[in-house]
Amino acid sequence: MKAIINGKIILKDRIVEGKVLVYDSVIRGVCDNAPEGAEIIDAKGGYVAPGLIDLHIHGYLGKDVCDGEPESIRTIAEGIVANGVTGFLPTTMTVDMKVIRKALECLRSLKEESKTWNGTAILGCHAEGPFINAKKKGAQDEKYILKPDAAFVKEYADIIKIISLAPEMDEDFAAIREIVADTDVVVSMGHTDADYDTAYKSTVNGVSHATHLFNAMTALAHRNPGVVGAALNSDVTTELIVDTFHVNPALYPIVAKLKGDKLCFITDCLPAGGLPEGQYTLGGTAFVSKGIECRLLDGTIAGSILKMNKGVWNVYTTTDLPLWYCVNCASLNPANAIGMGATKGSLDIGKDADIIITDNEFNVEKTIIGGTVRYEA
Ligand SMILES: [Zn+2]
Repeated sequence: MKAIINGKIILKDRIVEGKVLVYDSVIRGVCDNAPEGAEIIDAKGGYVAPGLIDLHIHGYLGKDVCDGEPESIRTIAEGIVANGVTGFLPTTMTVDMKVIRKALECLRSLKEESKTWNGTAILGCHAEGPFINAKKKGAQDEKYILKPDAAFVKEYADIIKIISLAPEMDEDFAAIREIVADTDVVVSMGHTDADYDTAYKSTVNGVSHATHLFNAMTALAHRNPGVVGAALNSDVTTELIVDTFHVNPALYPIVAKLKGDKLCFITDCLPAGGLPEGQYTLGGTAFVSKGIECRLLDGTIAGSILKMNKGVWNVYTTTDLPLWYCVNCASLNPANAIGMGATKGSLDIGKDADIIITDNEFNVEKTIIGGTVRYEA
């Protein structure tokens, strides 16, 4: 048995002080005292929070999920564990189908091992594309875009947790309905040029998530509420890139009010994450990382270099939202979005002991996965 003392414990609806978090491989409870003989970990007055979950991340430390190499995935996992991420969905891009298949097979082969390796655990994969709309391609490569194909998703239903697609490219939502009927894969609307009606109808036909809300989708305008309007007006779970650049922080509390416990913070981090400014590639396309911005050479905004713990802190420090709510958006809400909320995402009794200890500005001091320390600052 282990016990974390001297921390502000972030539960899913409040923060408690003067208590002790007790766990072994799972959470045993929040107690007044450490049990006899327990190994004591001192949080030194910082925060004790559930491990963070990133549903959308393309790379880190120069490595790209689309490399399809075990070494790349290991490097990413060992890098982001330092940002308090205990579970992630490595995210593929719209690239050659052969490259996507190789990446998915690589992730499939590593998933079991990742539960105990020295980095963040692979919870599955987020396939972003290739079934998107060229009009909203963002940093995705147009030449590899395909029509939605349920058979492909079904073939990888054991590893894909989220498929991002443009619902207007799917005639009568046939592929969407087939995926939802035959698999547990979450269908997300992303990189989409749909109008409000089409997007809203897609949510009635099986779309249950929205990929990086506001980015690479039709905007919310008063006569054309767009995909953003449909995401806000339906009960889909919603991703938000919280680097303060992709979406203006003034929108954080608005989205939080409308989406509540359906809001999931993501990094959409590119291979430049964790590295100095400079030129890198993403799915074979060159981009430049400068400050908090990543852009293709033609100026198109690409993903971020955001760290998940920093994302939580960005929202907390730019809004009046409580810290426990911001943490939920990076732990419990994403866990629920991919159907893993029963075992992950909060410090509730019986859940996996995925825990982080941070200082008072949410810099990660320790990352614990399944009760074992995987990272120490
Ligand atoms: Zn994207």
